Parts: sequence; C-alpha cells; structure tokens
Amino acid sequence: MATIITDECINCGVCEPECPNGAITEGEDFYEIDADLCTECVGFHGEEACQEVCPVDCCVPDEDNRESEEELLVKAGKIHADQEFPALDDLTAETSLFRNPNRKNANL
Ligand code: SF4
Ligand code: SF4
Repeated sequence: MATIITDECINCGVCEPECPNGAITEGEDFYEIDADLCTECVGFHGEEACQEVCPVDCCVPDEDNRESEEELLVKAGKIHADQEFPALDDLTAETSLFRNPNRKNANL
C-alpha cells in the first residue's frame, strides 16, 4: 500500500528530503509520491517519514494500492540494491510500520 498525498497539502516541502527513496517530488498542484518508489518506509522507519513530518497529516495510505510488508521489504531491497536490510522476521516497530501501533496513520 503506497502512501499518497491528498489535496490538503500546503506545499511546505518538508516531506521531500525525508523520504529514504526519493519518492516525493513537487507536483503541479501539490507534492506527489511515486508509488513505484514508495515502500511505506519499511526497512528504514517505523512509520511513514513523510507523514511523521507533515504539518497537516495529509500523507495517508492509498487503499487502492495495497502491498504486504514482505512485498515492501523486497521493493526496498530492489531500490537500494547496495544496502542490507533486516530479514522480514527481524523487522521491528522502529523499522516497519506494520509493527508500530503508535504511528500517526495507525487508525487509517
Ligand atoms: S511513506 Fe516513506 S517511502 Fe513512501 S513516500 Fe513517504 S517517506 Fe517516502
Ligand atoms: S509535508 Fe505535507 S503539507 Fe508539506 S509538502 Fe509534504 S505532504 Fe505537503
């Protein structure tokens, strides 16, 4: 499930440098996320880094684009082929939003 930015975005730009995958760019009207590059921060953070810093909480799960924790970890490995990631079973609340009930989007 990639993250999307809604039209509530105020174009502040603080999310862009926080994405470990460079998935966020300034769009025509609002900032945008490239779904092919969004891993929901699995392997890097325990929640979506973009949502964590967003002042208006407009980085939310895309219900139409669901991916499992395993799929997202594999995706992260492909994007960062030069980097080692923990095994699926070794992900924690600090490295996977699937294991972090205290993240901003936990109830979405
Ligand atoms: S959820 Fe993580 S990987 Fe996806 S766009 Fe936000 S910061 Fe980037
Ligand atoms: S942090 Fe939020 S409001 Fe700011 S550009 Fe990113 S999505 Fe838009």
